[in-house]
Amino acid sequence: GMGIKHFVEKTPKSLEFYMEAAKVMPGGTTANIKFFPPYPIIMEKGMGSRLYDLDGNEYIDYLLSYGALILGHGHPRVLQAVQKQLYENGTYLFGTPHRLEVEMGKKIQQLYPSIELLRYTNSGTEATLLAIRMAYAYTGKNKIAKFEGHYHGGYDQVLVSVNPPVEKAGHPLHPKSIAESKGMDDYHEEHTIVLPFNDIDAASAILRKRQGELAAVIVEPVQGGFIPAERSFIEGLRELTKELDILLIFDEVKTCFRLGLGGAQQYYNIKPDLTALGKAVGGGYPIGITGGRRDIMEVSLPKAASDVFDNSQSKHSDARDVLFHSGTYNGHPSILAAGLETIAVLEEEINQINEAAETLKKGISKLFLQKGIAVKTLGLGSIFNLILTEKDKILNYRDLQNADFSLRRELDFQLINEGIYTKPLNRYSISSAHGQEEIDKTLEAYDKVIRRL
Ligand code: PLP
Repeated sequence: GMGIKHFVEKTPKSLEFYMEAAKVMPGGTTANIKFFPPYPIIMEKGMGSRLYDLDGNEYIDYLLSYGALILGHGHPRVLQAVQKQLYENGTYLFGTPHRLEVEMGKKIQQLYPSIELLRYTNSGTEATLLAIRMAYAYTGKNKIAKFEGHYHGGYDQVLVSVNPPVEKAGHPLHPKSIAESKGMDDYHEEHTIVLPFNDIDAASAILRKRQGELAAVIVEPVQGGFIPAERSFIEGLRELTKELDILLIFDEVKTCFRLGLGGAQQYYNIKPDLTALGKAVGGGYPIGITGGRRDIMEVSLPKAASDVFDNSQSKHSDARDVLFHSGTYNGHPSILAAGLETIAVLEEEINQINEAAETLKKGISKLFLQKGIAVKTLGLGSIFNLILTEKDKILNYRDLQNADFSLRRELDFQLINEGIYTKPLNRYSISSAHGQEEIDKTLEAYDKVIRRL
């Protein structure tokens, strides 16, 4: 459409540089999702709510690095906290426990009462991976259930039925376990059971049948950051997993701090057994946190020196009795300094961020309504998505199938040309840097673009 034509006219330097990037990385990018046709914009600089590309175009950023930048780009207080840590306390890695791990941990325990003990990781992927291993270790079982359409990271156990072709995905009420990547073996067909989201009866039927095999159910309380669990569903899931002795893992990598500081578990008032946090928790720096019930987390408790796997030891050790968890960069002090400062800012400003998101959602809906195009602005707190659909209710992956994604793509390119950025077809995240001025500008651009559609 016209959107892509103008996009190409406005971003010649991105194209030129992209050709160079393709000589270095497959597809010119270091994550498949960062590619979009015809080519991704190459950004040069971020400040507050804004991104600037190689051609000097300015954008209001709603991608916000897939939701991680809840305070926008380069928040001065976060920068200062990181700098202080870097310059005053030596380089940045001690290889020992340290003060900020405890300070951050106590803050997380306060905000997430289900988290009695925690461990730090470097990403959300590692946080869910560790939670699942903890569940295996604690229960002695080696299967998990996940929901169709839910993303928990890029490894074989969970990279299953995230975005499957529906014609291959089986019956909506008992979906098949479908690999999302080349190079995965068939492990998941046996070990990862797929459930339908927001249908407690259908999920219950599967869970009851597989009860003896399942260590845990892992769930995004808000699918993809924009399809909220129905309250009765998530409450039902909590009761059911308790009854069946299956652990419940909340993947709050996207939702933490975006549905309020206590995440989805505070919003729904549900206590999961284990939780994975990430993204916003690090204030834009790489982090993950795995936390939960003390008795479960203690499967990683080192009891004696002999329990600690150390590849400098040639002697046999009993490490196999303890859950192995390690990582050179875990609990990185400058990242924890960023996370702590992010929490401090959010304690003052989080309501404002969520209100800005509400205002924007309402404004966008109104403009579509005026034009007579059916739209849903789906999501809670400071993250949402635009789904162009006539459907009353969007409750799960299958409900998304009939939405108009090609119109949405055209809309996204036209908005990019007007200086409103999210990756085409991606969600919208709001930051504390998105004030009235940004919302007004965004709605003006929407008005212009919707009139043209
Ligand atoms: N879980 C959820 C719900 C996510 O949204 C993501 C990232 O998009 C992950 C896990 C993986 O986190 P990361 O990209 O930090 O590895």
